[in-house]
Amino acid sequence: MIKVLDHGFVDLVDSMPKICDGLPPSMTRPGDQRIVDAARVSIAGEDVRPTSDDEKLIRYLIKNQHGTPLEKVVFEFDCKMPIFVARQWIRHRIGSFNEMSARYGKLPDDFYIPSIERLLMGGQAKLNKQGSAEAPFGEALAAQFAKSIALHSESSYRLYEGLLGNGVARELARVVLPVNIYTRWFWTVNLRALFNFLGLRLHEHAQWESRQYAEAVLQLAAPLAPYAFKAWRETL
Ligand SMILES: Cc1cc2nc3c(=O)[nH]c(=O)nc-3n(C[C@H](O)[C@H](O)[C@H](O)COP(=O)(O)OP(=O)(O)OC[C@H]3O[C@@H](n4cnc5c(N)ncnc54)[C@H](O)[C@@H]3O)c2cc1C
Repeated sequence: MIKVLDHGFVDLVDSMPKICDGLPPSMTRPGDQRIVDAARVSIAGEDVRPTSDDEKLIRYLIKNQHGTPLEKVVFEFDCKMPIFVARQWIRHRIGSFNEMSARYGKLPDDFYIPSIERLLMGGQAKLNKQGSAEAPFGEALAAQFAKSIALHSESSYRLYEGLLGNGVARELARVVLPVNIYTRWFWTVNLRALFNFLGLRLHEHAQWESRQYAEAVLQLAAPLAPYAFKAWRETL
């Protein structure tokens, strides 16, 4: 499990193929093996394979966008992230999500409070209108902002609990909660869609908080198919 932000995490809970017991996945390369097996089935009997070498075959597939063998490698992640990160993440339609329900259960009082360092690089960017840049305020003000965000989060949670305590349904009481509250889901994704996700969410144009999750996903997934990840990096 990799911790992300102040209360979040990403954990790789399952994969297809499975990680073999005893040996590190980077040695057994089960994902790479699955990719070449799938690719060789599709070209069996034809002399179109550029090379019999696994690494070269994988590089050939990825460079030439022969994506379906990559779909044979599947990951299951357990992730906890603030709702504003989840909003961006769930736009990735090729994959499957099962999220905790704030209708069935009460949300825990975990809120993302940006660090002072994050706030100091969290001024409104002028060129990239979606992005952050060096802040026009200093450390003292950043500390005050962090405190205000925490106080605001606590106060919204008190209101939430008050509504619940007075019989308001969970599905309705949650409307007072801000998007920095954490949610949690299981995410099933194949390697082809994962590369698409990583290409977009590791990019410097992606929001910093989402990039932290993409970095954790990358760290957990890459050892399963090191040749594929190397070849994918070469395409960036
Ligand atoms: C930096 C950044 C800024 C963004 N800003 C905005 C924004 O301002 N507003 C906004 O609405 N979104 C925004 N997005 C979300 C973005 O538009 C995509 O919805 C998101 O990145 C998912 O990408 P995707 O469609 O490639 O992924 P997936 O949905 O996982 O799809 C993977 C691939 O499958 C194929 N595919 C999937 N569905 C279809 C389909 N219906 N038809 C054809 N092909 C399909 C495509 O090849 C696609 O690349 C932003 C994303 C990023 C990274």
